[in-house]
Amino acid sequence: MKPYEATRLYFERAADRLELDESMRKLLLTPKREVQVQIPVEMDSGKIETFVGFRVQHDASRGPMKGGLRYHHEVDLDEVRALATLMTWKTAVVDLPYGGAKGGIAIDPRKLSVKELEHITRKFVDQIHDIIGPDKDIPAPDVGTSSREMAWFRNQYEKYHGFSPACVTGKPVEHYGAEGREEATGRGVGILAYKLLGNLGRKPKETTVALQGFGNVGSHAAKYLHESEYKIVAVGDQSGGYYRKEGLDIPKLLHHALQNQGLLAGFQDADRISNEQLLELEVNLLIPAALGGVITKRNAARIKAPIIIEAANGPIDPDADDILAEQGTKVLPDILANAGGVTISYFEWVQNLQYYKWPLNRVRQELESVLSRAFQRVWDEAKEHRTSLRTAAYMIAIGRVHRAAKLAGVG
Ligand code: GLU
Repeated sequence: MKPYEATRLYFERAADRLELDESMRKLLLTPKREVQVQIPVEMDSGKIETFVGFRVQHDASRGPMKGGLRYHHEVDLDEVRALATLMTWKTAVVDLPYGGAKGGIAIDPRKLSVKELEHITRKFVDQIHDIIGPDKDIPAPDVGTSSREMAWFRNQYEKYHGFSPACVTGKPVEHYGAEGREEATGRGVGILAYKLLGNLGRKPKETTVALQGFGNVGSHAAKYLHESEYKIVAVGDQSGGYYRKEGLDIPKLLHHALQNQGLLAGFQDADRISNEQLLELEVNLLIPAALGGVITKRNAARIKAPIIIEAANGPIDPDADDILAEQGTKVLPDILANAGGVTISYFEWVQNLQYYKWPLNRVRQELESVLSRAFQRVWDEAKEHRTSLRTAAYMIAIGRVHRAAKLAGVG
């Protein structure tokens, strides 16, 4: 299923429950602005290559729009639109004063030099700098980007607009980045796992975990879960899966990845399995933390984990979600599960606007309190309306955006 179709279906389910009329659905679903730009760059070889970049600004009813910038060869307008829409619901469900946006460039960053990536990033900023900014739309890292790209981004933006550290978040700490932004999404997944499992009567020590994806989100989630004494029996990345029945040595894996450009390839102390097998393992908790669309109607019935936490954006298709629901699987939806990243982005933006720096313990404490409050709200809503956590999260988010849009009027 195409990513936008999937997010639209999830929206419609919650909109039905909220009894939203057609005109309101159309208003809430239609993106405010979609931009596609040409990025011509002179490569290291001297050859000129032309790339395509996107920024979709979905909704600004609750504040400036916010969302990451993805570098991946499969990026297209449909995916960026879906991800921008998810950002609207994500910021609303954790109640940050933002709307949703997303950007992307269709490149494979692993195949480009650092210099080429810098040129591409700067050229992209040249094309979109007048539609973004601290009060309009604030990008951040996503798949394939990190604090490095955000530093280039800010530097290029400031050539046009002067000192504006709040124009982008997820920056290096040396460049007005927030302490703890890097670990934020993974840590948030860990905090929410603890809440969810606690409510389901499960203890970390008795919980086996399979984690798909070992990038920024997956590796930090692994670290946090390991420190909280969960038993991580499998992890995987593009090189495949690594399995150990007795539990993997996570510090060793983290060290291996650090020495190996973030990749798991070559890790010895585990049995090799495929990513397909990893998803289908008999574990208590499955965390897809890589790309979207990994659990579809094709493999849903084979997923044995009774609890899934969507650390990635859009890992489960709606028709697969129905099959999982029939199996009694509990799913913590992406718009809540991975909201730790944008929450600390918000803290970074606030600090930048105030020229004030918070220590790490304050960032962590506030993250915990924002996520705990949001989790409890979603849990209670699901109980009250006898619905899934996903529909409950969407109902809260859509309700908030709907009220804000209505109050603003369309005059
Ligand atoms: N890319 C992250 C996400 O999908 C973070 C966005 C942000 O910090 O603005 O939530």
